[in-house]
Amino acid sequence: MSEKTIFQKIIDREIPAPLVYEDDLVAAFNDINPQAPVHVLIVPKKVISRVGEAMAGDQATLGALLLAAGKIAEKLGVSDRGKGFRLVINHGRDAGETVPHMHVHLLAGRSLNWPPG
Ligand code: AMP
Repeated sequence: MSEKTIFQKIIDREIPAPLVYEDDLVAAFNDINPQAPVHVLIVPKKVISRVGEAMAGDQATLGALLLAAGKIAEKLGVSDRGKGFRLVINHGRDAGETVPHMHVHLLAGRSLNWPPG
């Protein structure tokens, strides 16, 4: 079996990190190197290496990630259109992926540039 990802260790409580959200399919915690005042990582409990490698059977998990993002944004007070948030999924080297366990970045709390870098 391949070694657990850092995110799997957080989900399994082997590495301490307060969870900002959890349900049957996903867990969320603050990014250790935040790029905005709000920077939460939303991670499927089932390891999907990266979004482009998800399978048809992962549909519910993929949906759960986005539904969780909406709930977390609401909970953190950034879902109002006067504020707002951005979701980012990095797949592969050119996108800057560093952890091979799919995750959604939720960024908020400042004005975010477009196009992204
Ligand atoms: P990515 O570059 O899309 O793969 O994102 C990986 C993210 O995981 C980066 O933003 C890192 O700062 C974050 N990260 C790495 N290790 C940890 C950790 N132990 N706890 C929280 N976030 C982490």
